Amino acid sequence: MISRFAPSTTGEAHPGTLLSALLVWLDARARGGRVLLRLEDLDTTRVKDAWAQQLRDACAWLGLDWDDVVIQSGQRAAHEAALDRLAASDRLYPCTCSRASRAGGRRAPDGGWAYDNTCRDRVLPTNGWRAALAAGAAIRTRLDDVHVALVDELGVDLSQTPARDLGDPVVVRRDGVIAYQLAVVVDDADAAITDVVRGRDIAPSTVTQVLLQRLLGLSTPRYRHHFLLLEPAATKLAKLHGSIPFTALRARHDGPALCGILAHAANLAPTPAAITPHALVARFDWATIPRTDRIARFDPERGLQIEGTDS
Ligand code: GLU
Ligand code: ZN
Repeated sequence: MISRFAPSTTGEAHPGTLLSALLVWLDARARGGRVLLRLEDLDTTRVKDAWAQQLRDACAWLGLDWDDVVIQSGQRAAHEAALDRLAASDRLYPCTCSRASRAGGRRAPDGGWAYDNTCRDRVLPTNGWRAALAAGAAIRTRLDDVHVALVDELGVDLSQTPARDLGDPVVVRRDGVIAYQLAVVVDDADAAITDVVRGRDIAPSTVTQVLLQRLLGLSTPRYRHHFLLLEPAATKLAKLHGSIPFTALRARHDGPALCGILAHAANLAPTPAAITPHALVARFDWATIPRTDRIARFDPERGLQIEGTDS
């Protein structure tokens, strides 16, 4: 069993990041598996090296260790090879539609606007996807118009017809950045990942990834989409302004204290008392983990508090 924690290095770690890291790590260790950290740093318009370093520090501070660390930007050759294979099977096309042209159209399951596959019948120039990109297009993959029924190991229903519900996915952005949907599929296969544990915010993307795996002849891992820690406004704790940054958490708590609060929020400990991740391995069980999202609050006096618990 090989699993991974794959944060984007586009902002400071926050409580939801650390909860996810803890659940990924515990799931792997409880089953005697391997677990790697993959720093997802492809979006050059948003990533910072300092945030990548902070994520590594934050995990170590919490008490998590990794069997390997993969820097996603180092995977470029594998990403391009996958694109070449998709091009060879005539699955790529250039798209020059603007984001604005989709607004007001159909809502996608991820909360954005669905793409209507407007450019689907366009063909790549003879010099391939690189030439289309150089000419200013984004590159999309033509998916099969199939419904995929899939319920993850935690009972989250992922079933969709991705080509219609979301539209054909962008695999290379107009600015040349390899898109998440392609990179995640290629990198999970490259690392022989058998189990993907991640937040429910990603659940709407999973079936798109399954269809990309099929097009590339890759196997589909087992998926688990866990509950989230939300801001009081009930939106995802974004790694953006306004969320609870790691620097604030570290100034108020030490690693075992924060681990205790997260473990209690995940119903893995009866109280929020300080504890190490290692001490939680023997009692880890998905059956006890909450199925609904929880609200996190922070103030420098009282520290991190999770609604519905006594922390
Ligand atoms: N990098 C993505 C994120 O931080 C998650 C990738 C994944 O686990 O598939 O939201
Ligand atoms: Zn288009």
